[in-house]
Amino acid sequence: MTVKDRSLTTALKKYFGFEQFKGQQEEIIQSILSGQDTFVIMPTGGGKSLCYQLPALLSEGTAIVVSPLIALMKNQVDAVRSYAESDQVAHFLNSSLSRAKVKEVKQDIVSGATKLLYIAPETLTKEETLKFLSQIKVSFVAVDEAHCISEWGHDFRPEYRRIRSMIENLEQDIPIIALTATATPKVRMDIVKTLRLEEPKEFMASFNRDNLFYEVQPKGKKEDVLRRIVQFIKDKAPNESGIIYVQNRKTTEEVAKVLSVNDIKAAPYHAGLEAKLRSDTQDAFLMEKVDVIVATIAFGMGIDKPDVRFVIHFDIPKSIENYYQETGRAGRDGQHAHCLTFYSYKDILRLEKFLRDKPVAEREMGAQLLAEMIAYAETTACRRRFLLHYFGEKYKDEVCRRDEMCDNCKKQHPTENAKEALLLMLQVVKDLHEKLQAKELLDFLLGEKTQSILDFKYEQHKLFGKGRDKDRHYWNSVLRQGLLNDYLRKDIEDYGILRVADAGHDFLAKPSLFEISLNHNFTQEMQDMEEEREQNASSTLDPQLLKILLDLRKQVARKKNVPPFVVFQKVSLEEMATQYPFTIEEMKNISGVSEGKARRYGRSFLTTIKDYVEENSIIRPVDFIIKSVARKSKSKVTIIQSIDRKMPFEDIADSLALRMDELLQELYMIINAGTKLNIDYYIEDILDEGVQEDIEDYFMQAETDNLDTAFEELKEDDISLEEIELYRLKFLSDNAN
Ligand SMILES: [Zn+2]
Repeated sequence: MTVKDRSLTTALKKYFGFEQFKGQQEEIIQSILSGQDTFVIMPTGGGKSLCYQLPALLSEGTAIVVSPLIALMKNQVDAVRSYAESDQVAHFLNSSLSRAKVKEVKQDIVSGATKLLYIAPETLTKEETLKFLSQIKVSFVAVDEAHCISEWGHDFRPEYRRIRSMIENLEQDIPIIALTATATPKVRMDIVKTLRLEEPKEFMASFNRDNLFYEVQPKGKKEDVLRRIVQFIKDKAPNESGIIYVQNRKTTEEVAKVLSVNDIKAAPYHAGLEAKLRSDTQDAFLMEKVDVIVATIAFGMGIDKPDVRFVIHFDIPKSIENYYQETGRAGRDGQHAHCLTFYSYKDILRLEKFLRDKPVAEREMGAQLLAEMIAYAETTACRRRFLLHYFGEKYKDEVCRRDEMCDNCKKQHPTENAKEALLLMLQVVKDLHEKLQAKELLDFLLGEKTQSILDFKYEQHKLFGKGRDKDRHYWNSVLRQGLLNDYLRKDIEDYGILRVADAGHDFLAKPSLFEISLNHNFTQEMQDMEEEREQNASSTLDPQLLKILLDLRKQVARKKNVPPFVVFQKVSLEEMATQYPFTIEEMKNISGVSEGKARRYGRSFLTTIKDYVEENSIIRPVDFIIKSVARKSKSKVTIIQSIDRKMPFEDIADSLALRMDELLQELYMIINAGTKLNIDYYIEDILDEGVQEDIEDYFMQAETDNLDTAFEELKEDDISLEEIELYRLKFLSDNAN
C-alpha cells in the first residue's frame, strides 16, 4: 500500500474540511496506512467512520466496507460523496441494485475511480462478488459494527462469521480494520478471535458520556407514565428534540397521539410504516418540524441529530448494549441531555416470555443480557459507573456525584456496612466450588430447598440457610455490589456462573469495610408515589377560590343573560379550584370544558385564578392533568353523524338498538362534553312552539339544569318530562357550547 505524499492533516482539510483530528483518529489512520490490523472501539459520535474513509481515499485500490444495514448504506455512500468531486468515489453493492447498476459500479471500481465500496455481508459471500474482488486491488477491509460477529453482541449476524474466510479467498495481503461502538470485554475477544486479527493495534475510546444524565423511574399504569412523560417534556425540554423508545408499533402511535393532543409536536416511527412516510418523518425531525419521535428500535441508526435533548425508554431495553446505543443518541453536541427509563418488573416478565420460544442457547443468552439490564435498573450505585463497568472500563464515581449526573448520585441512598454478608457470600461461592448461578446462590443463603439445591445435596452444607435473617432483596443488593466492586465475577460464557475474583480472595483473607446501599424496590416506590399523588389530588380543592369562582359565574351569567350552569357546571369549577388553570390550553383539560366553551366563557375565570394564585403565593400542582386522547365511542360518532344528516331520533335509536331515554342520555353527555349539536330539525317536528318557549323561559332563569326540578315547575302547564329533556338538549347546545 502506498500513501500519497501528503501530511494527514492536510488531507483531512482537503477531503473533509476539518482543521483537526478528533481523539485518536490520527493514530488509527496511521495504523491502517501502515498495513496493520486495527481494532477500534469508539462510542457513536466519536468520528468512527472517518477512521477508514480518509485512509481509503489516500490508498491505492478500493477499500471494502462491510456494513450490516442495507438501509444505511445509501446514507453512508451519500455522506462520502458529499465531500468528493465525483460520485464514483464511493459505491455500495447489495441486493437492492439492478443488474445494470451493478455493472456500472464494477466499471468504476476497475477504472480505479472508486475508493470505498460498501457491501452487505450477504453480498460479500456470493461467488460472483468474490470472483470480481479477486481481480481488483483491495486496499483494506473495514468491518463496521463488528460486534455483529459475536453471539454476545446485541445484533448478532451469522454471516459476519464468514468474513475472514472470504478475505482469505481473495489471496491478497489485506489488512483489516474492525470497528464497533459497543462491545463488552467478551464481545471484544470474540471479534479478535473470529476475524483472526493479527496482533491488532487496539484503540479504545472511553465510553463515558459525561453530558448525559441517567435516570430510572418506576413504571405504573400506562396513563400515569404518559402523564409523567408529558410533564417531563413540558418542564424540562419544551420544544426540544427528543426520542421516545417503545417496544411495539401500536404503542408508538398511541404515545405520539397523546403528545400531540398535549401540543407536543410528535410523530410515530416504526418498521411497519411505508418507506416514504418513514423518510418524511426522519426529515421532519431533522428539520425540526417534529420535536419528538416515538419509535421502536428501528429508529435512529442513520440519524445524527446533534441536539437531541432527551431519550426516554417507555419500555425497558433488552440489553445494556441497546440501552447504551439508544441513550447515546442524546446530546451528541456535548450539551446536557436527559436519559429517562421507565422500569417495571411486568415488562421483564413479558420479555422473558418472548425468550421462551427461542432455541436454548439464544434463550440462555437473552436471559443473561436481560439480567444485567434489571441489575442496572435496580441498582442504587452510580449508573455511570455501572455502565462503564459493564463495558470493562474503570470509573470512580466522584465526578458523577459532584455534578449530580445520575439519579442515584443526585439523591444518595443510605448505606450500611455489609462486610459480614459479603464474607458469607464469598465463602459460599468458594466452598461450593464456584458452581452456582445468582438465583441458586440466593436460594442457598436463604435456605430454600429448591430442586437444584436438593439435587446437589447442598442443604446438608453447614452454611446452608445462614443468610435467613435477611431477605432476598438484601442479598440481591449485596451480590450486585459485590460484582460491581469486582469481588465476584460472573462468567457469562458459562451460564452466568459466579466466581470469586482476585479482590474477593483478598477480602476473604483480610476483610475490610464494605459499604452498600440496598437496591431500588420499585414496587414500593411506585406505591409511595401513587399514595402521594392521591393525597395531593384530594386535599387541594381550594374552597376559598371555589367561592370566588361561583360568584364570578353568577356575574358572567347575568351579563351574558344565561343561567349559571350554562357558563360552567359546578364540577368544572371545583376542578378549576384544584388545578388552577392559567391558559385556555390548560382550561381545555378541565372536564366538561371544550375549547369553544373555554374561549367563550373562560377568560375572566383565568384572570381571576391567576390573580388569586399570585396574591396567595400558591404553588400549582406539579402534575397538571394532561389531556388524554378523546375516546369517542363508536356509537357517539354514529349519533353525531346521524344528527348532521338530520335523521329522526327514533331511527337513530333503532339503528343503535337504544331506547329513546338512553339516546337522550347519550346526547346529554355529548353536549356536556362540549360538542355543539343542531337538533332544531327534530325539535320543530315534535314540540309545539308554545311549549318550546315555556321551557326556554324556564331554563333561562333556572339555577340548575336538573330535570326533576324543571318538571315540578312545568308540569302544571301540561309539559312532559320527555319534552323538557328533549328541549334541554337544544338549550344547552345553543347556550353552553
Ligand atoms: Zn452517578
